[in-house]
Amino acid sequence: MNALLLKDYMNLELVRMPEPEAGPEDVLVRVRACGICGSDVHGLDGSTGRRNPPLVMGHEAAGEIARTGARVQDWRVGDRVTFDSTIYCGQCFYCARGQPNLCENRQVLGVSPGPYRRHGAFAEYVAVPSRIVYRLPDNLSFEHAAMIEAVSVAVHAVSLTPVRPGDTAVVVGSGMIGLLVIQALRHAGCARVIAVDPDPARLELARQLGASIALNPATGDAVVAIREMTEGRGADVAVECVGAGEPVRTAIACVRQGGSATLVGNLEPAVEFPLQTVVTGQLRIQGSCASSGEYPACIDLMSQGAIRVDPLIGAVAPLAEGPEWFARLYRREPNLMKVILKP
Ligand SMILES: [Zn+2]
Ligand SMILES: [Zn+2]
Repeated sequence: MNALLLKDYMNLELVRMPEPEAGPEDVLVRVRACGICGSDVHGLDGSTGRRNPPLVMGHEAAGEIARTGARVQDWRVGDRVTFDSTIYCGQCFYCARGQPNLCENRQVLGVSPGPYRRHGAFAEYVAVPSRIVYRLPDNLSFEHAAMIEAVSVAVHAVSLTPVRPGDTAVVVGSGMIGLLVIQALRHAGCARVIAVDPDPARLELARQLGASIALNPATGDAVVAIREMTEGRGADVAVECVGAGEPVRTAIACVRQGGSATLVGNLEPAVEFPLQTVVTGQLRIQGSCASSGEYPACIDLMSQGAIRVDPLIGAVAPLAEGPEWFARLYRREPNLMKVILKP
């Protein structure tokens, strides 16, 4: 089969590889669409340590079942599917508690920090355990379905955020996840969603997708503006979707006393923490990792149009063009958000 192999750091190549073996509990999926994740782009140069070559990356995918393992009963060849990016064991302490995203033995497709290596979906075929596979409705295209993983990250973060109908929410960062969080907060009943991002094009997209107010911290103090809009109190909740010091500071500074800040962004390993603001304001700081059982809900939300991914897809291209698209994303080409590759 054809696969896009990270041969070495900064060296992606379309190569011929043997098709993966499907174990007795696995299904072999003929990949029809696979999104390039920001973490794949960041992993390209080795700086994050989460992609160790040689590796086939790719964990945001959809396709058709091409073969089923001997013990797989619920799936048939030709079924249209997507699958969780986290391969959880189903047996550990966290899996038993219904928190598979925290599984002690979890592996992520196409991610290899340290010892394990599990090739991902930038290839014609990928083998995955049948327990992480979800059926796609006919009205959801493979290209849109490849966005479900990102949608699930946003929906999971909002599910951990104590939102009440009528709330004012702030979303710091209007990248891919931020734009999905805006839509999920709207759907959860927030009356007002305020987007904060230094990029005017992203703020425009945030407005199109449901933000009532868009604030640019490069041209004015966002925290002051948010306080002015909330009778000096601050927002009820904030969701941070960048993962760096300044945006985290903004997310914590813009919520009211007793409010909550959910942290989804994950770029820097450590940031300064405003301890006294959090303690004296009785704030709740909530981390959010990947997703935990939200796939069926996300499939519904997308198929009903409650969450739109179309405006986030910058390009759909054949797998062979992968190296060029990775290079364009690595150079941070403006206004290029999600690129979907079709093996
Ligand atoms: Zn991802
Ligand atoms: Zn587990």
